[in-house]
Amino acid sequence: MSAQRRPVRPLLSLQATALVVLTAAVGMWTWKTVATYEAEVRAPRLTLDSARKAARTLMTGPYLYLATGEAVHVDATQDAVTELNAHLLALSHLAPLPPKQLQRARASLQVIEESTGLLWKAAPDADLAGALEQLALGTSALDGSLTAIETRIEAQVTERYDLTLQGLLVAWGGMLVAVLGTGVLASRHDGANVAREQRIQRSLNVELADALADAAQPPSPDAPLPEIVSIAGAGVDSLVGAARRTVEALGDLRVDLARLRRSSSFTQDLMDALAMAESETEVVSTASRAARVAYPDASYQLLRIEGDDALLRPVDTMPEPACAVEGAQHCPAVRKGRTLHHGIGQGIVRCPHLANDSGCVTCAPVLLNGHAYGVSQLAGYIPSQTGLDDLESLGLALAARLGVVRSLAASEREASTDPLTGLANRRRFTERLADLDRNGSHYCLIVADIDHFKAINDRHGHEVGDRCLQIFAQVLRDACRNSDLPCRHGGEEFVAVLPDAGMRAGLAVAMRIRSLLREAGRNAPAPFTVSMGVAAHPDHGDQGDRVLRAADAAMYDAKESGRDQVIPAHLAMDAEATI
Ligand code: GH3
Ligand code: MG
Ligand code: MG
Repeated sequence: MSAQRRPVRPLLSLQATALVVLTAAVGMWTWKTVATYEAEVRAPRLTLDSARKAARTLMTGPYLYLATGEAVHVDATQDAVTELNAHLLALSHLAPLPPKQLQRARASLQVIEESTGLLWKAAPDADLAGALEQLALGTSALDGSLTAIETRIEAQVTERYDLTLQGLLVAWGGMLVAVLGTGVLASRHDGANVAREQRIQRSLNVELADALADAAQPPSPDAPLPEIVSIAGAGVDSLVGAARRTVEALGDLRVDLARLRRSSSFTQDLMDALAMAESETEVVSTASRAARVAYPDASYQLLRIEGDDALLRPVDTMPEPACAVEGAQHCPAVRKGRTLHHGIGQGIVRCPHLANDSGCVTCAPVLLNGHAYGVSQLAGYIPSQTGLDDLESLGLALAARLGVVRSLAASEREASTDPLTGLANRRRFTERLADLDRNGSHYCLIVADIDHFKAINDRHGHEVGDRCLQIFAQVLRDACRNSDLPCRHGGEEFVAVLPDAGMRAGLAVAMRIRSLLREAGRNAPAPFTVSMGVAAHPDHGDQGDRVLRAADAAMYDAKESGRDQVIPAHLAMDAEATI
């Protein structure tokens, strides 16, 4: 990851620049060489050609004069000498020749001049052998000098030309080396860059795959988050940044997921626990227990709205509520119908009813069928370390279960209640009797039947009859204790179950019924009386049905004895309790 990206573009630029510069230089050099050749090679060569031509005249001119005797050959020979001198002078300027070569050529020319001078002056019969020999030597030496000069010039030209060619070759070679070198270097850099980026890409893929795999794992509080190693380099930084942000987002998601899982697990446990609570009391105490599990370091209290004054009362004795508010209408959370968080410190919203030392407090109203049931209150927690989702879940689950329990209780009540009188019906009576029998409890039964009820209906109508039934139901209620169960057994027949009561207590209650009925009858639309039979368990039977039959039989005895009286079972007519 630490390898740097190698530059390729500068190398390619260098390659292109070297190509252009060297091509221009070689072109210039070639052009200059051609120009130099024109100036330095061709002119000496032309001059040399002219010199050789004049030299040929020097060789032939004297012999032609000797053969013909014509003076024109003398003039031509002398002109050739003059010409040659001029050409030798020109050559000394045109080409950098060694002075000795020119001196030798001039000396040869001088010999020719002297020997021809002898020839021009010689008599016709003079011995010319010496002069001719001297002339031959002179012309031969001149020819040799001219050849040497020509060779020298050729050598100079060749040398210069060779040097130029070598220079050009070196330049081209250098250019090729530069071009190939930069090309190879650029190719290697490019290859290294591609390999490096592939390596980085593979590394990123692995890290991202690891991060995704980690995020998909069940979160462990100890598991460290994957790290993205910093990668420098253009084009990769943004990818690294995106990868890092992705991993950070995955980390946040993982924390959220862990919190959700914890909360979901708590909610599931809470629902299971609440499902086992069958009464309102059990539901409320289960919720309080769950709150203490969810918030072990804070205080939880459920304030329930009670009574006609709608006062907020704590369900548990401990802990003390965080607020001193009494009337539910003064509680902001109840009034607004939403959860309120009360912080600490200046400038933070805080309910004025809260105690100063209660720390951070959250009040979540518990709504039952749209009506306020109470307030879930969490106090003394540290906001940064406490999630309040569970408190919300608790309020919702508590309200839901309370609704179910209340609804079940209402159905139960409805199924076991006589709709006209509001007393327990025969079903409820039978269940209660079975409970008592199962527990082996002692109890007493009072069976009461309204006298001549058919006549009341016939005389005053069914509505009046119903009213009489309701009046007697209330009489029964008033005569019974809370632990007793007054029931409508059917028609105009009633029965009261008196747990833990013997015959004496049962007869006392029956007498109280008669007494209360007498008072209630004053306001009744039609006066009426009842006949009652009293029996007890285990005195009149070891099972409820036997005791009931005994009480029923006693009631019929009361009918037969003239009605409006109480007859205890066993004693029958002898122990009749009269008014
Ligand atoms: P006894 O003194 O022997 O008990 O005579 P009784 O007329 O009271 O008894 P009977 O069995 O002959 O008549 C009972 C009547 O009670 C018959 C029935 O119409 C009436 N009754 C039963 N249930 C109701 C009710 O719910 N409302 C009204 N208004 N009348 C009822
Ligand atoms: Mg009857
Ligand atoms: Mg009757």
